[in-house]
Amino acid sequence: MRARRANPNRVKSHFSYTASELAACLDVHKNTVRNWQRKGLEPIDGQRPVLFQGATVRAFLKSQRTSRKRSCAPGTMYCLSCRASRRPALGMVDFQPMRPDSGNLRAICEVCETVMHRRIRFADLERKMPGCEVQITQGPSSLNGQASPSLNCDSEKED
Ligand SMILES: [Zn+2]
Repeated sequence: MRARRANPNRVKSHFSYTASELAACLDVHKNTVRNWQRKGLEPIDGQRPVLFQGATVRAFLKSQRTSRKRSCAPGTMYCLSCRASRRPALGMVDFQPMRPDSGNLRAICEVCETVMHRRIRFADLERKMPGCEVQITQGPSSLNGQASPSLNCDSEKED
């Protein structure tokens, strides 16, 4: 199967398209459009021939992209600089426990040497980072045994 990437920006939100028009607009095969329909792209109700709303198509294509982006292959982490999944340089990663069952992984991108971060559950360490040499580091928060109440999951602070 060919994996051609359709560019969602080619679709005009306020237009509606037949399957063939959509295929032509995005430069994909008509079967690709049928395939999207199977994957959850909803046509406009009750129209014959079947019509797709541009805005719906855009949202669908974007959601397909992000779901692909999120899944890092085992043994890789997402490098913000390369915008791709990369292996840790020399297969070495640091694991800093933050909670009893999870913590932060840190490694150097083997391509551009940017520091990469990934939250991970301790139980997943072996499975998600197979063949990597994991160094457990002690974070400052482990000294008093409890995470400070102001610790926010969303704010990833550098030290
Ligand atoms: Zn990189």
